Amino acid sequence: MENSIEIASIQCMNKQKFIADLLHAHGLRRTPIRTEMLTLFLKHDTALAASDIIAKMKLRLDRVTVYRALNSFEEHGILHRASEDERGIKYALCGQHCPDELHTDQHAHFICDRCHQTYCLEDVKVPEVAVSNEFSVDRTNYTLSGICRVCNA
Ligand SMILES: [Zn+2]
Ligand SMILES: [Zn+2]
Ligand SMILES: [Zn+2]
Repeated sequence: MENSIEIASIQCMNKQKFIADLLHAHGLRRTPIRTEMLTLFLKHDTALAASDIIAKMKLRLDRVTVYRALNSFEEHGILHRASEDERGIKYALCGQHCPDELHTDQHAHFICDRCHQTYCLEDVKVPEVAVSNEFSVDRTNYTLSGICRVCNA
């Protein structure tokens, strides 16, 4: 019993250190809001929308504060847009080496038709598509849908 508490607190400390290092690496100050938001992202293997974050956070936050934090995480290469639907944009943690301003960790995403969760498929790279140079492409969405591993189990 004591042992499992100890292990849990070590994992918790590692998470806090991971978040502190992540914020530091991307030049963001460590605030309680940012720390709690990133802790939530670390706990979930699915992408989260602003409404999910507001519902799950212990700190009481208004939408504007959450949107502002999400935007700055996106700008600083910590979170990326995983999917977008009528309920809003869902974000997910970036890979380890995503620089500021430009997301280099482009991969496919999977949206489950049953539970409507969005997953990052980090191993599935977005195929290169030739586009006429009359169009300048800023973002590419490569989304697969079907039934996820949780619903399939
Ligand atoms: Zn990224
Ligand atoms: Zn599912
Ligand atoms: Zn992703």
